[in-house]
Amino acid sequence: MLKSFEELLEESVIKHGHLCPGQILGVRMAMLGCRLLGIDDPYSPDERKNLIVFVEIDRCATDAIESVTGCKMGKRTLKFRDYGLMAATFWNLESDLAYRIVAREDARHKAQDYGSGETDPFYLQMKAYRQMPEEELFSIQRVQMELPPWELPGPPRRHARCHRCGEVVRDGREVYRDQEVLCRPCAGEAYFRPWIAEGKSSADIYKEALS
Ligand SMILES: [Zn+2]
Ligand SMILES: [Zn+2]
Repeated sequence: MLKSFEELLEESVIKHGHLCPGQILGVRMAMLGCRLLGIDDPYSPDERKNLIVFVEIDRCATDAIESVTGCKMGKRTLKFRDYGLMAATFWNLESDLAYRIVAREDARHKAQDYGSGETDPFYLQMKAYRQMPEEELFSIQRVQMELPPWELPGPPRRHARCHRCGEVVRDGREVYRDQEVLCRPCAGEAYFRPWIAEGKSSADIYKEALS
């Protein structure tokens, strides 16, 4: 049996660090996702392996979804697609059923009808999101999912060695350019820029940084 909303919310608030509208929305979204897929206890050894969740935003609700479903990036069962949308897809690998749940934009306006007495939008949303019927909070889409084998949980199925720096690139993230196999930083796709200091070795930087 899936735990009660209040129990799940309490757990998620502890992990997330505070109670907020995103926790309430995320817990309800994840509970709905599990129910749609027929998953009673996402933490049970049998069902744990079957659930993959794709989140489309890195905000409060994402922590709640992680808490309720037990899906984690480190287990490769939580996937992040950076769309900036309050939406998530719940996929049962065993049955291949998948539903994408989107938090409805008009729920924020409708919150007025449910949060009477609250003037602060933060508390108004929290009060409303606890009570609003699911169909007013979310819209549901049945979707078809596909992932290459190296995206699935389990040990890495692909390794490649970067021709330039020699690092091993796991899980098919290598880049092929002019007959060369490269890691993303060597292919010019790094999220960082190296700090350049003439004549300093990695050992010098290490020593300086920790002194
Ligand atoms: Zn929050
Ligand atoms: Zn490289």
